[in-house]
Amino acid sequence: MGSKKTYQYSIVEKLSFNRYGGTEDEARAAKIIADEVKRLGGEPEIMEFEIPAYELHSCSLKVTAPYEKNVEVVPYGLTGNLPEGGAEFKLRYIEDTSPQSFVGITDLSDTAVLINELNWDMYRRLYELKAGAFILIANDKWYNSDETTDLIPREIREEYLEIGKIPGFSVRSSDAIGLMRNKAEKVRLELRETEGIATSRDVLAVIPGTEFPEESVVITAHFDSVLVGTGSWDNATGSATIMYIYRHFLANPPKRTMRFIWCGSEEQGLYGSINYIKQHRDLLPEIKFCFNFDMCGTLLGANRITVTGGEELKNYAEQLAMEYGYPTVVNLRVHSSDSAPFADEGIPSMGIGRGTKSSEIHTRNDLLYPISSEKLYENGEFAVFAISRFINSAVLPVKREIPESMKKEVDKYFWKDKLSQLKKD
Ligand SMILES: [Zn+2]
Repeated sequence: MGSKKTYQYSIVEKLSFNRYGGTEDEARAAKIIADEVKRLGGEPEIMEFEIPAYELHSCSLKVTAPYEKNVEVVPYGLTGNLPEGGAEFKLRYIEDTSPQSFVGITDLSDTAVLINELNWDMYRRLYELKAGAFILIANDKWYNSDETTDLIPREIREEYLEIGKIPGFSVRSSDAIGLMRNKAEKVRLELRETEGIATSRDVLAVIPGTEFPEESVVITAHFDSVLVGTGSWDNATGSATIMYIYRHFLANPPKRTMRFIWCGSEEQGLYGSINYIKQHRDLLPEIKFCFNFDMCGTLLGANRITVTGGEELKNYAEQLAMEYGYPTVVNLRVHSSDSAPFADEGIPSMGIGRGTKSSEIHTRNDLLYPISSEKLYENGEFAVFAISRFINSAVLPVKREIPESMKKEVDKYFWKDKLSQLKKD
């Protein structure tokens, strides 16, 4: 398959179809990855796990007073059911969580609440006031329509369910403006779904270390996509880049063990990496570091490295980039990707990627066009250089630890403060 310089791109092309977690399409993508590992001479393993999923039966909104009109809505999956045949609610816009917005409100059980933002405080407030439903205004603009954008169904973050369930919907901005402008007072909402589980999977491959096989590094990239688009940038590019790295190290065996993980269902809540950790608890002490790849290879844009660890790791990454002559900024923070669950286990990480304003993720526009074969190759070559330095070093250059200040950030990322506060209250 192709020369070294076009290898990654050819894999991005093969993976450029929708690969939503827990679907047959995701399984097809996993097979493409596993087949390539085999073709290169490796032994892939498909590791299955369960994720929450739902089957939708009905979801609708109809204004019933003072006028009648059907308005397009999509569900917030896993938020439960309304009574069979729907239920009528008053409609009320609550724009933020300030006390001023809640003056005089003591009970919302007969009300569907239109909100700008779904966040912990708002959800908790609405739950305590027994809101009948919430309707989130989608993150689009008044001029968007079916022709230009998708109104995308989402699933509620599992943490919210610790508070409880409020049937949830999402509506376009243009329709939300219509509801307010026309002073819609009452709506009939329908939401029926069956909640259950779906099977998702990771693709795993291991290259044993030649000198220190008991020390290992994980190389991660998620291969699933959101519900729309072909997920070419996010994250067929990362998946292809770690295949490039895999191919290199198969031919150039590393001193330490490399554990490659093509993660499934990252987009729905990092399920692939979380489940890898759950199923490989015994391996955690020997895993010293994580190299993660989430979005690489755009023609325009700029390289970026995100490190989760301490200042020494940031300096190390900067020096590697200087030595190589790789233009990049290095950010020290929690990377919202598959390295985060490893950080939660005390394993530091380096995320190598490339950002651009010329494309977008999580929409129908994440397609192949802005991706460059050459830039993918440049990202891949730098990654091979950085990983070689790290994995073949006499002494590991970075400690397996997350400093206290970063640990706080990781806890915040996983909403631990919110969840422990909830238990106390
Ligand atoms: Zn991603």
